[in-house]
Amino acid sequence: MSTISSSDDPLAAVEAVRVYAIPMRTRFRGITVREGMLLRGPTGWGEFCPFDDYTDAGSAPWLDAAIEQCTGHWPTPVRDRVPINCTVPAVGPEAAYEIVTRSGCRTAKVKVADRPGSLGEDQARVEAVRSALGSDGAIRVDANGAWDVETAVRHIRVLDRSADGLEYVEQPCRTVPELAQVRRRVNVRIAADESIRRADDPLRVAVAEAADVAVLKCLPLGGVQRALRVAEACGLPCVVSSALETSVGLAAEVALAAALPELPFACGLGTLSLLNGDVVAPSDAVQPVDGHVRVPATTPEPDPTLVEAHAPTDPVSAARWLSRLSRVSAVLRRR
Ligand SMILES: [Mg+2]
Repeated sequence: MSTISSSDDPLAAVEAVRVYAIPMRTRFRGITVREGMLLRGPTGWGEFCPFDDYTDAGSAPWLDAAIEQCTGHWPTPVRDRVPINCTVPAVGPEAAYEIVTRSGCRTAKVKVADRPGSLGEDQARVEAVRSALGSDGAIRVDANGAWDVETAVRHIRVLDRSADGLEYVEQPCRTVPELAQVRRRVNVRIAADESIRRADDPLRVAVAEAADVAVLKCLPLGGVQRALRVAEACGLPCVVSSALETSVGLAAEVALAAALPELPFACGLGTLSLLNGDVVAPSDAVQPVDGHVRVPATTPEPDPTLVEAHAPTDPVSAARWLSRLSRVSAVLRRR
């Protein structure tokens, strides 16, 4: 960025930026190509990768996180590896079985409520996951806020039976009051994800009556330090989950999981395999081994050849990210 001059510029410490575009192996969260930016600062690299549906204001915490990552230091880890779950998208039962078996994970997160009328398919997927995990594995489902209260109560009861016991259900409904209503009527733990991440002020959202578990993603929450404060403020056991980052951003998510005082559930950090490529060398990648990821000492260094290989082929996309970075940094400057 050649326009950086004054010291109140949030990007003043940023020495270099790179745009990446990496195809997804399977369509996930409605996207087929994961795009974002890598920022280099005095202490290493950070990742800035808000999804397209985030406004400039909504992308500001993502930029805080990237700047924290490339200019700051992480808190001292209290563990050296983090258990992870595998993620089962809305696929058929055979594919679901295969994903779980191949993953080596003892916890599976199963996407449900992908479309109206999906209960039969959701049941078959959950049953296949149970048979792949055996009786001692844990199954959680994620509805991404798709259900109303009545549907949530009915479907959770059915899926809890299909799973032979669910560990928790993530964001069954959209709003916090709806989560609270569902929580009073089912015997399955409720986890809040979007309710925290997309709250106007995640430090103030009162989810304690509405959920039993909080899902934290440090990039959308504004970085590791801020996510730790959200964990403390919400007063719930936390699960750290990725925002489909490359190994650079994933390293920040792992640093958060490594620093949380308690970590009673497996984390959603085994997502690198959803991308058909990475910006760091395979030996440095945040890659699961035996259902865990190791806690890296620092953010892995991007490999220049891989960064080059994953640069967007479309110049419009690179220009769009540079313009987004400049608009979002203007939001930080105005705060
Ligand atoms: Mg979720």
